[in-house]
Parts: sequence; C-alpha cells; structure tokens
Amino acid sequence: TVQAAEVPSLDKARAFASSRHRLFIGGAWVDALDGQTFATQDPATGAHLADVAKALEPDVDRAVAAARAAMEDPAWTEMKPAMRARLLNRLADALEENADEFAALETLDNGKPVKDARFFDLPHAIETLRYNAGWATKLNGESISLSGPGTWHAYTVREPVGVVAQIVPWNAPLAMAVAKIAPALAAGCAVILKPAEETPLTALRLAHLIAGIGFPPGVFNLLTGFGESAGAALTAHPGVDKVTFTGSTEVGRLILRAAAGNFKRVTLELGGKTPVIVLPDADVSRAIEGAARSIFTNAGQVCNAGSRLFVHQRHFDEVIDGVARIAETIRIGSGLASDTTMGPVISAAQRDRVQGYVRQGIDEGATLRSGGKPIDGDGWFVSPTVLTDTEAHMAVRREEIFGPVLCAMRFDDASLDRIAAEANASDYGLGAVLWTNDLSAAHRLARKLKAGTVRVNGGGLDPALPFGGFKQSGWGRENGREGIEAYTETKAIAMAL
Ligand code: NAD
Repeated sequence: TVQAAEVPSLDKARAFASSRHRLFIGGAWVDALDGQTFATQDPATGAHLADVAKALEPDVDRAVAAARAAMEDPAWTEMKPAMRARLLNRLADALEENADEFAALETLDNGKPVKDARFFDLPHAIETLRYNAGWATKLNGESISLSGPGTWHAYTVREPVGVVAQIVPWNAPLAMAVAKIAPALAAGCAVILKPAEETPLTALRLAHLIAGIGFPPGVFNLLTGFGESAGAALTAHPGVDKVTFTGSTEVGRLILRAAAGNFKRVTLELGGKTPVIVLPDADVSRAIEGAARSIFTNAGQVCNAGSRLFVHQRHFDEVIDGVARIAETIRIGSGLASDTTMGPVISAAQRDRVQGYVRQGIDEGATLRSGGKPIDGDGWFVSPTVLTDTEAHMAVRREEIFGPVLCAMRFDDASLDRIAAEANASDYGLGAVLWTNDLSAAHRLARKLKAGTVRVNGGGLDPALPFGGFKQSGWGRENGREGIEAYTETKAIAMAL
C-alpha cells in the first residue's frame, strides 16, 4: 500500500481518475452519442482505475465538424501569431502549476515511477509547449528571385495545414500528446487528439486546462476511444487534412492506407530497435550506466530503447557484467513507491508478449545473463533481462519487444563499415547510440548509421532536436523547425509586375 502523503497530489489525481470523463468537442464536455464508456486499469495492481467515454464514428463526425468550424472562425484563423504563442505559454504555466497532480495521474495510468513522470515527462511537456510557442511568430516564407529582375514579385507563405487528427500511444501519454498538440496549435491548425485507450487520463486532465486557457471552441478536441473504431474513423475521415501518429509500425501501415482516400498529409513516429555501440576507447563505466538506462527506463517501453548492444571484445565481459549487475539492483514495484526504479508494463498482454520473446530467444539458443523470469502476483511486471549469444535472424534481435530486454553482441577489431552494417541490419532506423572518445570514429560512424537520431556519449531528447525515423521507423520528423513546418502548407505566390 502506498501512502498518499509520499506522493504529492496523489489524492487529487485519484479523485480526478474516479470522476466522470466525457469527450471534449467544440469547447464543451459531452457524452459519447450512444452513451458508451470503457474501463481502464492501474497496471501496478490490475484494479479498476477509471471509466471513460467511448467515442465511435458519429462522435468522430461531430469532432471533425467542430474542428472544421474552428478553421473557418476568424477568432482562430485571424488570431495574431503572438496571441497563439501567449495561449501556449499560458498552457505551459498551467501545466507547471499542476505538475505534481499530472505526474501522479500519469503513474496511476501508465505505471511509470512517479519521479520519472515528475522530473522527465512533465518538464519535457512544459518545455515543448514553450519551445513551440516561440515558433508561432517565426513561421515565415521567403521572397524568391525569378528570372528577369523587375518583372516578377514572388514569395512563399506558410499556411496551417487545417484539421489534424493526432493519435498517440500509452508509453509517455502526456509528453506524446503535447509533442503533437503544441506545434499544431502554434501553426494555427485545429486538433482532434485521440489518446491510447490504456492511458487517457492525463490527456483528459490537459483538456480541462485547455478549456480554461482561451482557445476558441473547436480548436482543440479530445476523443477517448479505441484504435480500431475512433482511431480508424479519424484516419479515414474526408474532413481531416493531416494525421500525425505515434505507435506501432503495423498500425502506421493501416493509417497510411486509410489516409490515402483524400491524400491526408501523414507524419508517423513508429517502432525502433536502437543499436548501442561501445567502441574500444569508450569510457566503460559511463557506457555501462548509459546502456542500462537506455533499455530499462520505462520498463523498456520506449520507441528509442537501446535494445541491441554491440560491445568491442576488449570490454564485452566487463560491460555485460556491469549491465547485468544494474539489472539485478533495479527495484520493481508500484510507480507510486518512492524506492521503485522500474514500474509495471502497461498490460497483461504486454507482459505475456515480452515473456514470450524471452522464452523464444532462449529456445532458439540465446543465453540468459539476467532476469527473464516471470513475476507473479497482482499487476503486470517483467524483470529486466539481458540475453547474450543471439543470432541476427532471431526474433529477439529483429523485432521490437517494447520491454526491458537487451540483446548483447560482441565485435572484434572490425572496421567501422562492418559495425555499421551490423547495426543497420534492421527494418527500423529510429535511433543509434555510440560510446567512444575517438572523435573521428564518432563522426564517421554517425554518418554511416541509418537512424534518425545518433547520440554520442549520452545526450537527450529536446524539443529543438528533430526526432523521427529512417526506414520502417516512420515518416517525417517531430520537434525542431521541421516538426512545426510539418503542420503547414507552403503556398507560392508569383505576380507579374
Ligand atoms: P499501437 O499502434 O497499437 O497504438 C497506438 C495508438 O494507435 C493508440 O492510440 C491506438 O488506439 C491507435 N490505433 C490502434 N489501431 C488503430 C487504427 N487501426 N487506426 C487508427 N489508430 C489506431 O501502439 P502501442 O502498442 O499502443 O504503442 C507501442 C508502439 O508505439 C511501439 O511499437 C513503439 O515503438 C511505438 N512508439 C513509437 C514512438 C516514436 O516516437 N517513434 C514513440 C512511442 C511509441
């Protein structure tokens, strides 16, 4: 049992979780048209957590109509960019004032350690709002010189792409939602957000903040519901101009097909199988700590988790011993307990899926160095697991497990080309991590890796740093200039003088 006193604002979060949750459409809270709701569970206990409105196709129609109306409403379309920036900054302030409650709510809903929610997810979400608020006033076009000076006046403008459906997963529910909402609103779009069915609570709480900030009605709409109904209806809807999605590669493919009907613009942030490469001259103790953090944070439920570890033979034993030792000291439990360093995974299905991969890996010849055993009892827990002796063809090496499972491989004095080829032997290309003190090797290898983000000796996520994938890890980029420009259409205007 976790005492409320230990977690600031836990009582408030619990009260919010058990309150009545509706859809937010056109600036008003409404029930789903047919009145259906669905239940969510606390992943640390399996107990009932909340009852949430279940949006279906007619609710999607209503939300799209409200968003389309907002894109015709001068209160929004003619709002000065500086005012859009001010609204986003107000939202950032409101989130900051309520950060404890949001962190507790995220932990109840998703299971992650409350310290991670409070000191990573919340600051990241707040900073993302402020970063994108800054772009609202800087979305400029160019003036273009056409042939024949004095005969043409030509320039470009950036216009909001229109109504955007935004579909997010459950592993970082608030941070993902904000990463989508902030640039879209900064660019002047109208948004329909659909959080994951497993974790709708922080998006709902955020909608309450947004309702009090002063956005015109219909600019932000929230639909809670399931992917195959509400999500699919949104992505196929002819009134939606763009879909931005974070989730599995499999669903990304469905979304591309659904979006083809009216050629929606599409941004996809999908799965990953990030390689972590430890070169011979790396600072080994930092590499050990970094490699462990990269795969065990958020119980491995991170698209960018470093799930394939390639270590030079000189350090292999030391690094694997070090990572295994860290795995064994991880304290697994409720994210609300102050000493927990790894919470549950999101669902019983996810736990069974991760365990299934570990079993299959061992059956196919992998060696279990740490973890791997099922954890019985209430809640859905998986132990941090390290596998060695895996082969490139095995499912544990190729497929995204989305759990705390690391495959470690040794390499000899191979050329950088060989190391890059092994690291690139994946359908995914989201991230890569290098540990080295050799500047030339770092830059040369970084250029050879097929990954959207290459981190050298650590480095984090930042709203200014473009984020996205090569290959089957996605389409387009979030964050940075590219992230906000993805919510605009470029219009060229050319005038004969
Ligand atoms: P998922 O694809 O099953 O679900 C994600 C979201 O899509 C949910 O909101 C769900 O309701 C919705 N959805 C499901 N089916 C849909 C459909 N047919 N049409 C429209 N929407 C639909 O993914 P998940 O299992 O919830 O999340 C884990 C996956 O997300 C992992 O593969 C992970 O790599 C990926 N992910 C990627 C990033 C990134 O930035 N690249 C970040 C986090 C998670």
